[in-house]
Amino acid sequence: MIISKPFKTINMNKNTPLNNGMQPGLQTEVAIIGAGTSGLYSAFRLTDTGKYAGGQVQIFDMSERLGGRLESVILPGMNFWGELGGMRYLTSQEIVTTLIEGYPLTEKDPAKRTPVLNDHMTPIPFPMGNPADLLFYLRKEHFKQDAWNVAQQNGEKLVTRYYLNDDDIGFSSDQLFNKIIYDVLMADPWFARNYSDRVTKGPTEYDYGFKLTSEDWDEVKPNLVYHFPGSPYDGRKVNDLGFWNLIKDQVSEEGYQFVANAGGYYSNTINWNAAEAFPYMVGDFSADVTYKTIEEGYDSIAYALANQYMGIPGACIWSENKLLTFSKGHELRDTFRYELTFLNIPANQIWHVYANHIILGMPRKSLELLDQQNFFFNSNENTVLDRNIRSVIMEPAFKILMGFREPWWKKLGIDSGHSITDLPMRQCYYFGTDPENDNSMLLGSYGDMETETFWKALSDDTVLFKVSAAESASLVELKALEREQATQLMVNEIMAQLREVHQIEIPEPYVTYFRDWSDDPFGAGYHAWKAGVAVWDVMPYMRKPDADENIYVVGEAYSDQQGWVEGAFCEAEKMLKSHFHLTRPIWLSDSYYMGW
Ligand code: FAD
Repeated sequence: MIISKPFKTINMNKNTPLNNGMQPGLQTEVAIIGAGTSGLYSAFRLTDTGKYAGGQVQIFDMSERLGGRLESVILPGMNFWGELGGMRYLTSQEIVTTLIEGYPLTEKDPAKRTPVLNDHMTPIPFPMGNPADLLFYLRKEHFKQDAWNVAQQNGEKLVTRYYLNDDDIGFSSDQLFNKIIYDVLMADPWFARNYSDRVTKGPTEYDYGFKLTSEDWDEVKPNLVYHFPGSPYDGRKVNDLGFWNLIKDQVSEEGYQFVANAGGYYSNTINWNAAEAFPYMVGDFSADVTYKTIEEGYDSIAYALANQYMGIPGACIWSENKLLTFSKGHELRDTFRYELTFLNIPANQIWHVYANHIILGMPRKSLELLDQQNFFFNSNENTVLDRNIRSVIMEPAFKILMGFREPWWKKLGIDSGHSITDLPMRQCYYFGTDPENDNSMLLGSYGDMETETFWKALSDDTVLFKVSAAESASLVELKALEREQATQLMVNEIMAQLREVHQIEIPEPYVTYFRDWSDDPFGAGYHAWKAGVAVWDVMPYMRKPDADENIYVVGEAYSDQQGWVEGAFCEAEKMLKSHFHLTRPIWLSDSYYMGW
């Protein structure tokens, strides 16, 4: 992402005032826990619609910053943002796109759209690079990312070091995923009868197309049956199968290893719910879908929502305040249903807040870290809530940004996008170059699932990477980042892997920035539904787990766009519609489907 506009002129305000103090006895209508995207969106909607005044909606977060799993950072000496968490959006994701780009989205000229939020965010393409330059390094073999297509155009099949079934040789991993999904869909007579006009095969043996909408998928996912006589899974609902189980059954364990390795993310091919994996893997094939990001950093979407809410008198974001528990049997119970107990972290002091509604905008691990013995979680007796909280798999993820004094990857003709390997680093993204001094950023690792323990042993080491001088990077700025550095051992290992993948000399970085999202309170970078879960029931259940209580769970974890900000927004929007009776936002197109 090469940013043309100098950082200094950016007009996005990230100095949102946070209050890390306390006000014992504070009374409010709605207490929102979590200043991540789902919590901030809920606060924005509840106040922007005039439903509540600012003082009636209060946000609490244990962190000293807002944004949750969105965190954009500037590395010293570089004039553009790097992303430690979420980094891009799809233009098919209509809530996030509209909040960033204005409405209606049918108006192609952005200048003619009406903005929803006051802060200006600049949408820019998220470049995916040129497959003819980007690398694959699998089982110690180097390829360019277009190697499969080049071979196919020459009427050849690219042979790799994976012992694939004869029928599967020559397919790229994306093509093989599509083949598996097509074959399973069309093997079910019910699907073939009702939806065969929405999938295509050909013109070549490698081409498959899927034109199912999200609504179609919500019809297909609970109903699809696995029809493969002789298979251990014959006759079972695909929703009851793990994705790994299904892939192995279709293309052998070697085929599984191939798609898992070449796909870049182990999180896509863990043994999660196979029916949920299908639409996730084939992506959104509606017209004109592209990846974009925000020039001012992807966390701008969180700041813009927070600023909008903070513009309402009485609004407050209570940072560094950790929710411990909440109860009902308190003195003010005639006027406020709930007493919330917070730990104020700077003062290490307990204080109480009173509210009539509690919105928990947080993921699974954060929920599990709350008092599990209170009346709501009551984990010994409320086994349904307990089971539903555990219906998603927590997927570890970490990111390490590395600042180099030169864009060494340009020697290979690479300017953006990512390279993929089966080494534990898995992927690296080439993030951009500051044109004034050549300083360049690389997303050095994007480890998940299987690679976690490999890196954990290195990241637990005590010796941190030592920052060093670079052009335009003051030592004061660099020193301020000392605590955020990856360990020296980890950097050494990543450098060894980068050299093995790229096969050129690579200079040492001058700075790094490390974030492990499996640390508390997140417990995971993102989530995935377990096999056998009735997702269509659990999603609405989690939005209000107890019909008699005004307690709501929103966020990415229990959405059907897991791993995306849009999932967090859709859950919040549906919860606000059903339980706070908000009408659909005027800025959101009537036809946009938000799922179960
Ligand atoms: P969170 O952002 O997790 O917010 C939860 C908040 O609750 C946190 O601020 C936390 O501090 C607070 N909290 C927890 N417990 C307590 C407590 N007891 N008391 C007070 N506060 C508490 N999405 C995309 O759209 N595009 C991407 O490219 C993308 N890439 C990603 C890459 C990575 C590495 C990761 C980790 C995520 C990525 N995502 C991406 C996902 C996206 O970041 C999340 O879906 C989204 O930010 C989740 O928002 P949330 O509101 O559900 O929860």
